[in-house]
Amino acid sequence: MTITHRTQSLTSTQRDSWIEINLSALERNFKKLQEIIKTDIMAVVKADAYGHGATTLCPILQSLGANSFGVATVDEGVALRNAGIKVPIVVLGATPFWSYETCLSNNLTTTIYSKEQINPLEEFARQNKSRLPIQLKIDTGMNRLGVDHNNCKDIINKLKTSSYLELKGIFSHLSDAQNNDFSLLQKNRFKTALNDFKSTKIPQHIANSFAAINYPEFRYDLVRVGIALYGQEFKFLEPLISLKGRITRIEKIKKGESVSYERIWTAKEDSIIATIPVGYADGIDRKLSNKISAIYNDKKIPQVGTITMDQMMFDISGIQDPRVGDVITLIDSKELTISSWAEILDTISYELICRLKLRLPRIYTRD
Ligand SMILES: *Cc1c(COP(=O)(O)O)cnc(C)c1O
Repeated sequence: MTITHRTQSLTSTQRDSWIEINLSALERNFKKLQEIIKTDIMAVVKADAYGHGATTLCPILQSLGANSFGVATVDEGVALRNAGIKVPIVVLGATPFWSYETCLSNNLTTTIYSKEQINPLEEFARQNKSRLPIQLKIDTGMNRLGVDHNNCKDIINKLKTSSYLELKGIFSHLSDAQNNDFSLLQKNRFKTALNDFKSTKIPQHIANSFAAINYPEFRYDLVRVGIALYGQEFKFLEPLISLKGRITRIEKIKKGESVSYERIWTAKEDSIIATIPVGYADGIDRKLSNKISAIYNDKKIPQVGTITMDQMMFDISGIQDPRVGDVITLIDSKELTISSWAEILDTISYELICRLKLRLPRIYTRD
Protein backbone atom coordinates (compact mmCIF):
# COMPACT_ATOMS: atom_id res chain seq x y z
CA MET A 1 0.00 0.00 0.00
CA THR A 2 1.39 3.44 -0.94
CA ILE A 3 1.27 6.24 1.57
CA THR A 4 1.11 9.88 0.45
CA HIS A 5 3.34 11.63 2.96
CA ARG A 6 2.78 15.31 3.47
CA THR A 7 5.18 17.43 5.44
CA GLN A 8 2.82 20.19 6.50
CA SER A 9 -0.63 20.60 7.91
CA LEU A 10 -3.10 22.55 5.79
CA THR A 11 -4.53 24.27 8.81
CA SER A 12 -3.15 26.04 11.83
CA THR A 13 -3.97 22.92 13.83
CA GLN A 14 -2.59 19.41 13.62
CA ARG A 15 -5.94 17.90 12.56
CA ASP A 16 -6.08 16.12 9.24
CA SER A 17 -9.77 16.83 8.73
CA TRP A 18 -11.28 20.23 8.20
CA ILE A 19 -14.10 22.47 7.02
CA GLU A 20 -13.53 24.54 3.89
CA ILE A 21 -15.45 27.79 3.54
CA ASN A 22 -15.65 29.39 0.13
CA LEU A 23 -15.63 33.17 0.52
CA SER A 24 -16.21 33.74 -3.21
CA ALA A 25 -19.51 31.89 -2.85
CA LEU A 26 -20.40 34.14 0.09
CA GLU A 27 -19.83 37.20 -2.10
CA ARG A 28 -21.89 35.78 -4.94
CA ASN A 29 -24.72 34.83 -2.58
CA PHE A 30 -24.81 38.25 -1.00
CA LYS A 31 -24.82 40.07 -4.35
CA LYS A 32 -27.62 37.85 -5.63
CA LEU A 33 -29.64 38.54 -2.49
CA GLN A 34 -29.07 42.29 -2.85
CA GLU A 35 -30.32 42.13 -6.44
CA ILE A 36 -33.46 40.23 -5.55
CA ILE A 37 -34.34 41.91 -2.27
CA LYS A 38 -33.54 45.54 -3.09
CA THR A 39 -33.88 46.74 0.47
CA ASP A 40 -31.51 46.97 3.44
CA ILE A 41 -30.07 43.68 4.63
CA MET A 42 -29.30 42.81 8.21
CA ALA A 43 -26.88 39.87 8.01
CA VAL A 44 -27.83 37.42 10.75
CA VAL A 45 -24.58 35.95 12.02
CA LYS A 46 -25.54 34.35 15.32
CA ALA A 47 -23.87 31.11 16.43
CA ASP A 48 -20.61 32.28 14.87
CA ALA A 49 -22.26 32.91 11.50
CA TYR A 50 -24.06 29.57 11.60
CA GLY A 51 -20.72 27.86 12.18
CA HIS A 52 -18.84 29.62 9.37
CA GLY A 53 -16.79 32.05 11.49
CA ALA A 54 -18.37 35.46 12.04
CA THR A 55 -15.16 37.43 12.42
CA THR A 56 -14.01 36.34 8.96
CA LEU A 57 -17.35 36.66 7.17
CA CYS A 58 -18.66 39.91 8.66
CA PRO A 59 -15.95 42.30 7.43
CA ILE A 60 -16.60 40.93 3.91
CA LEU A 61 -20.35 41.35 4.27
CA GLN A 62 -19.87 44.85 5.66
CA SER A 63 -17.75 45.85 2.67
CA LEU A 64 -20.39 44.43 0.30
CA GLY A 65 -23.04 46.59 1.93
CA ALA A 66 -24.63 44.69 4.79
CA ASN A 67 -26.35 47.55 6.64
CA SER A 68 -26.36 45.88 10.05
CA PHE A 69 -25.64 42.59 11.78
CA GLY A 70 -27.88 40.45 13.96
CA VAL A 71 -26.38 38.32 16.71
CA ALA A 72 -27.91 36.22 19.47
CA THR A 73 -25.67 37.18 22.37
CA VAL A 74 -23.67 40.10 23.71
CA ASP A 75 -20.43 38.10 23.41
CA GLU A 76 -21.08 37.59 19.70
CA GLY A 77 -21.61 41.33 19.29
CA VAL A 78 -18.38 42.21 21.13
CA ALA A 79 -16.45 39.78 18.91
CA LEU A 80 -17.74 41.63 15.84
CA ARG A 81 -16.75 45.03 17.20
CA ASN A 82 -13.28 43.64 17.92
CA ALA A 83 -13.16 42.42 14.31
CA GLY A 84 -13.68 45.99 13.07
CA ILE A 85 -17.41 46.01 12.39
CA LYS A 86 -18.66 49.60 12.38
CA VAL A 87 -22.30 49.27 11.30
CA PRO A 88 -25.07 48.66 13.87
CA ILE A 89 -25.03 45.30 15.65
CA VAL A 90 -28.34 44.15 17.10
CA VAL A 91 -28.50 41.57 19.89
CA LEU A 92 -31.69 39.80 18.79
CA GLY A 93 -31.88 37.56 21.85
CA ALA A 94 -32.16 38.45 25.52
CA THR A 95 -29.46 40.55 27.17
CA PRO A 96 -28.76 39.94 30.87
CA PHE A 97 -29.12 43.17 32.79
CA TRP A 98 -25.51 43.04 33.99
CA SER A 99 -24.35 43.09 30.35
CA TYR A 100 -25.62 46.58 29.59
CA GLU A 101 -22.31 48.18 30.47
CA THR A 102 -20.61 45.99 27.88
CA CYS A 103 -23.34 46.83 25.36
CA LEU A 104 -22.86 50.52 26.02
CA SER A 105 -19.08 50.45 25.64
CA ASN A 106 -19.36 48.39 22.43
CA ASN A 107 -22.28 50.33 21.01
CA LEU A 108 -24.50 47.25 20.70
CA THR A 109 -28.21 47.67 20.06
CA THR A 110 -30.27 45.50 22.38
CA THR A 111 -33.79 44.18 22.05
CA ILE A 112 -36.67 45.23 24.28
CA TYR A 113 -39.06 42.29 24.42
CA SER A 114 -41.03 42.98 27.59
CA LYS A 115 -42.35 46.01 29.41
CA GLU A 116 -40.42 45.21 32.60
CA GLN A 117 -37.10 45.94 30.91
CA ILE A 118 -37.86 49.59 30.26
CA ASN A 119 -37.62 51.31 33.65
CA PRO A 120 -34.38 49.70 34.82
CA LEU A 121 -32.81 50.35 31.42
CA GLU A 122 -33.79 53.99 31.43
CA GLU A 123 -32.35 54.29 34.93
CA PHE A 124 -29.13 52.62 33.80
CA ALA A 125 -28.85 55.01 30.83
CA ARG A 126 -29.60 58.03 33.03
CA GLN A 127 -26.84 57.06 35.46
CA ASN A 128 -24.44 56.62 32.58
CA LYS A 129 -25.51 59.89 30.98
CA SER A 130 -26.19 58.17 27.70
CA ARG A 131 -28.95 57.17 25.35
CA LEU A 132 -29.04 53.42 24.63
CA PRO A 133 -29.88 52.19 21.13
CA ILE A 134 -32.67 49.62 21.31
CA GLN A 135 -35.03 47.78 19.02
CA LEU A 136 -38.52 46.76 20.07
CA LYS A 137 -39.63 43.22 19.38
CA ILE A 138 -43.33 42.54 18.99
CA ASP A 139 -44.70 39.04 19.42
CA THR A 140 -47.17 38.27 16.66
CA GLY A 141 -47.44 34.52 17.17
CA MET A 142 -44.01 33.01 17.77
CA ASN A 143 -44.51 33.20 21.54
CA ARG A 144 -40.81 33.28 22.32
CA LEU A 145 -39.65 36.88 22.90
CA GLY A 146 -41.55 40.06 22.26
CA VAL A 147 -44.22 42.38 23.56
CA ASP A 148 -47.73 41.09 22.85
CA HIS A 149 -49.04 42.62 19.62
CA ASN A 150 -52.36 43.48 21.31
CA ASN A 151 -50.64 45.38 24.06
CA CYS A 152 -47.77 47.33 22.63
CA LYS A 153 -49.11 50.80 21.82
CA ASP A 154 -48.23 52.34 25.22
CA ILE A 155 -44.80 50.81 25.06
CA ILE A 156 -44.14 52.15 21.58
CA ASN A 157 -45.24 55.63 22.66
CA LYS A 158 -43.07 55.49 25.74
CA LEU A 159 -40.02 54.36 23.76
CA LYS A 160 -40.56 56.92 21.02
CA THR A 161 -40.31 59.76 23.50
CA SER A 162 -37.76 58.33 25.91
CA SER A 163 -34.78 60.56 26.67
CA TYR A 164 -32.68 57.57 27.57
CA LEU A 165 -33.59 54.93 25.02
CA GLU A 166 -33.24 55.50 21.32
CA LEU A 167 -35.69 53.41 19.30
CA LYS A 168 -33.79 52.15 16.25
CA GLY A 169 -36.32 49.68 14.93
CA ILE A 170 -39.49 47.71 15.54
CA PHE A 171 -39.66 44.11 14.48
CA SER A 172 -41.37 40.77 14.71
CA HIS A 173 -40.37 37.24 13.81
CA LEU A 174 -42.25 34.67 11.73
CA SER A 175 -42.83 31.31 13.38
CA ASP A 176 -43.53 29.31 10.23
CA ALA A 177 -42.19 31.38 7.35
CA GLN A 178 -42.88 28.69 4.76
CA ASN A 179 -46.55 28.74 5.68
CA ASN A 180 -47.92 31.72 3.84
CA ASP A 181 -51.27 31.81 5.70
CA PHE A 182 -49.82 32.01 9.18
CA SER A 183 -47.14 34.44 8.00
CA LEU A 184 -49.84 36.70 6.58
CA LEU A 185 -51.70 36.56 9.89
CA GLN A 186 -48.51 37.57 11.70
CA LYS A 187 -47.87 40.32 9.19
CA ASN A 188 -51.40 41.68 9.69
CA ARG A 189 -50.99 41.62 13.46
CA PHE A 190 -47.70 43.50 13.05
CA LYS A 191 -49.35 46.05 10.79
CA THR A 192 -52.29 46.55 13.17
CA ALA A 193 -49.94 46.96 16.13
CA LEU A 194 -48.13 49.71 14.24
CA ASN A 195 -51.26 51.34 12.82
CA ASP A 196 -50.93 54.68 14.58
CA PHE A 197 -47.19 54.60 14.46
CA LYS A 198 -45.92 56.91 11.75
CA SER A 199 -42.22 57.39 11.38
CA THR A 200 -40.12 57.07 8.31
CA LYS A 201 -36.98 57.16 10.42
CA ILE A 202 -37.59 54.02 12.45
CA PRO A 203 -37.26 50.87 10.35
CA GLN A 204 -39.80 48.08 10.63
CA HIS A 205 -38.91 44.51 9.78
CA ILE A 206 -40.33 40.99 9.92
CA ALA A 207 -38.73 38.86 7.18
CA ASN A 208 -36.16 36.08 7.62
CA SER A 209 -34.43 34.55 4.58
CA PHE A 210 -37.43 32.62 3.36
CA ALA A 211 -39.88 35.52 3.57
CA ALA A 212 -37.32 38.00 2.19
CA ILE A 213 -36.77 35.86 -0.88
CA ASN A 214 -40.27 34.56 -1.48
CA TYR A 215 -42.67 37.24 -0.24
CA PRO A 216 -41.74 40.71 -1.55
CA GLU A 217 -44.50 42.36 0.51
CA PHE A 218 -42.73 41.20 3.71
CA ARG A 219 -39.56 43.14 2.99
CA TYR A 220 -40.51 46.42 4.70
CA ASP A 221 -37.49 48.62 5.51
CA LEU A 222 -35.03 45.82 5.96
CA VAL A 223 -34.81 42.04 5.99
CA ARG A 224 -32.94 39.81 8.40
CA VAL A 225 -31.15 37.24 6.32
CA GLY A 226 -29.33 34.31 7.91
CA ILE A 227 -29.36 30.89 6.30
CA ALA A 228 -29.45 32.23 2.72
CA LEU A 229 -26.07 33.95 3.15
CA TYR A 230 -24.52 30.56 3.73
CA GLY A 231 -26.17 29.13 0.65
CA GLN A 232 -28.27 26.53 2.46
CA GLU A 233 -31.96 25.86 1.79
CA PHE A 234 -32.09 27.73 -1.54
CA LYS A 235 -31.15 26.02 -4.80
CA PHE A 236 -30.17 29.27 -6.55
CA LEU A 237 -27.52 30.01 -3.89
CA GLU A 238 -24.23 28.20 -3.25
CA PRO A 239 -23.37 26.41 -0.01
CA LEU A 240 -20.13 27.80 1.41
CA ILE A 241 -19.13 24.79 3.46
CA SER A 242 -17.38 21.59 2.52
CA LEU A 243 -16.11 18.98 4.94
CA LYS A 244 -13.05 16.85 4.24
CA GLY A 245 -10.73 14.38 5.91
CA ARG A 246 -7.62 12.46 4.92
CA ILE A 247 -7.45 8.69 5.04
CA THR A 248 -5.40 7.46 7.98
CA ARG A 249 -5.59 3.73 7.30
CA ILE A 250 -6.66 1.35 4.56
CA GLU A 251 -7.23 -2.32 5.30
CA LYS A 252 -8.76 -5.38 3.63
CA ILE A 253 -11.40 -7.26 5.57
CA LYS A 254 -12.98 -10.64 4.84
CA LYS A 255 -16.63 -11.26 4.05
CA GLY A 256 -18.57 -11.57 7.33
CA GLU A 257 -16.30 -9.29 9.34
CA SER A 258 -17.88 -6.29 11.03
CA VAL A 259 -16.73 -2.67 11.31
CA SER A 260 -16.87 -0.40 14.38
CA TYR A 261 -18.84 -0.40 17.64
CA GLU A 262 -21.94 -2.53 18.07
CA ARG A 263 -21.15 -4.28 14.78
CA ILE A 264 -24.05 -2.68 12.87
CA TRP A 265 -22.30 -3.26 9.53
CA THR A 266 -20.97 -6.57 8.26
CA ALA A 267 -19.11 -7.03 4.98
CA LYS A 268 -21.22 -8.94 2.44
CA GLU A 269 -18.04 -9.75 0.53
CA ASP A 270 -14.32 -9.19 0.95
CA SER A 271 -13.95 -5.40 1.25
CA ILE A 272 -11.49 -2.57 1.63
CA ILE A 273 -12.11 -0.19 4.52
CA ALA A 274 -10.70 3.33 4.85
CA THR A 275 -10.66 5.28 8.10
CA ILE A 276 -10.73 9.08 8.39
CA PRO A 277 -10.23 11.20 11.52
CA VAL A 278 -13.70 12.81 11.77
CA GLY A 279 -16.35 11.76 14.25
CA TYR A 280 -19.37 12.80 16.24
CA ALA A 281 -17.25 15.09 18.42
CA ASP A 282 -16.84 17.12 15.23
CA GLY A 283 -20.57 17.61 14.95
CA ILE A 284 -21.34 14.68 12.65
CA ASP A 285 -24.41 13.12 14.20
CA ARG A 286 -23.92 9.48 15.19
CA LYS A 287 -27.41 8.72 13.87
CA LEU A 288 -25.99 9.20 10.36
CA SER A 289 -24.02 5.95 10.83
CA ASN A 290 -24.40 3.63 7.84
CA LYS A 291 -26.67 6.17 6.09
CA ILE A 292 -24.41 8.62 4.29
CA SER A 293 -21.95 8.58 1.43
CA ALA A 294 -18.84 10.56 0.67
CA ILE A 295 -16.80 11.25 -2.44
CA TYR A 296 -13.37 9.78 -3.05
CA ASN A 297 -11.65 10.26 -6.41
CA ASP A 298 -14.98 11.39 -7.92
CA LYS A 299 -16.71 8.17 -6.84
CA LYS A 300 -19.40 7.77 -4.21
CA ILE A 301 -18.39 5.60 -1.26
CA PRO A 302 -20.71 4.47 1.54
CA GLN A 303 -19.91 5.23 5.15
CA VAL A 304 -19.99 1.94 7.07
CA GLY A 305 -20.36 1.03 10.73
CA THR A 306 -21.07 3.25 13.71
CA ILE A 307 -19.56 6.74 13.55
CA THR A 308 -17.26 7.01 16.57
CA MET A 309 -16.25 10.06 18.57
CA ASP A 310 -13.19 10.90 16.50
CA GLN A 311 -13.21 8.62 13.47
CA MET A 312 -15.40 6.92 10.92
CA MET A 313 -14.98 4.31 8.23
CA PHE A 314 -15.88 3.94 4.54
CA ASP A 315 -16.16 1.00 2.20
CA ILE A 316 -13.78 1.92 -0.61
CA SER A 317 -13.79 -1.47 -2.35
CA GLY A 318 -14.57 0.12 -5.73
CA ILE A 319 -11.69 2.61 -5.71
CA GLN A 320 -8.59 2.10 -7.85
CA ASP A 321 -5.23 2.55 -6.14
CA PRO A 322 -6.40 4.03 -2.83
CA ARG A 323 -3.75 5.72 -0.74
CA VAL A 324 -3.41 6.70 2.87
CA GLY A 325 -3.35 10.51 2.91
CA ASP A 326 -5.93 10.89 0.13
CA VAL A 327 -8.85 13.23 0.74
CA ILE A 328 -12.41 12.03 1.29
CA THR A 329 -15.13 14.68 0.92
CA LEU A 330 -18.18 14.35 3.16
CA ILE A 331 -19.94 17.60 2.33
CA ASP A 332 -19.51 19.66 -0.81
CA SER A 333 -21.40 22.41 -2.57
CA LYS A 334 -23.09 20.10 -5.10
CA GLU A 335 -24.21 16.59 -4.29
CA LEU A 336 -23.27 15.99 -0.69
CA THR A 337 -25.45 18.53 1.02
CA ILE A 338 -26.16 19.33 4.63
CA SER A 339 -29.84 19.20 3.65
CA SER A 340 -29.54 15.52 2.73
CA TRP A 341 -28.15 14.83 6.21
CA ALA A 342 -30.91 16.93 7.75
CA GLU A 343 -33.50 14.84 5.94
CA ILE A 344 -32.06 11.60 7.33
CA LEU A 345 -32.02 13.06 10.83
CA ASP A 346 -35.46 14.66 10.55
CA THR A 347 -34.07 18.08 11.37
CA ILE A 348 -33.07 21.24 9.48
CA SER A 349 -29.79 22.28 7.90
CA TYR A 350 -29.54 25.15 10.44
CA GLU A 351 -28.98 22.75 13.32
CA LEU A 352 -26.38 20.61 11.59
CA ILE A 353 -24.39 23.43 10.08
CA CYS A 354 -23.78 25.35 13.27
CA ARG A 355 -22.54 22.18 14.94
CA LEU A 356 -19.80 21.45 12.42
CA LYS A 357 -17.51 23.95 14.05
CA LEU A 358 -17.30 22.02 17.30
CA ARG A 359 -13.73 20.89 16.79
CA LEU A 360 -12.83 21.02 13.12
CA PRO A 361 -10.38 23.67 11.91
CA ARG A 362 -11.62 25.97 9.15
CA ILE A 363 -9.84 26.80 5.92
CA TYR A 364 -11.07 29.85 4.03
CA THR A 365 -10.82 29.54 0.25
CA ARG A 366 -11.65 31.57 -2.85
CA ASP A 367 -12.28 30.29 -6.32
C1 LIG B 1 -32.14 33.61 13.19
C2 LIG B 1 -33.00 34.74 12.98
C3 LIG B 1 -33.20 35.27 11.69
C4 LIG B 1 -32.61 34.66 10.45
O1 LIG B 1 -33.37 33.57 10.02
P1 LIG B 1 -32.98 32.78 8.69
O2 LIG B 1 -34.12 31.84 8.50
O3 LIG B 1 -31.70 32.08 8.97
O4 LIG B 1 -32.85 33.78 7.60
C5 LIG B 1 -33.97 36.41 11.58
N1 LIG B 1 -34.53 37.00 12.66
C6 LIG B 1 -34.38 36.51 13.90
C7 LIG B 1 -35.04 37.21 15.05
C8 LIG B 1 -33.62 35.37 14.11
O5 LIG B 1 -33.48 34.87 15.34
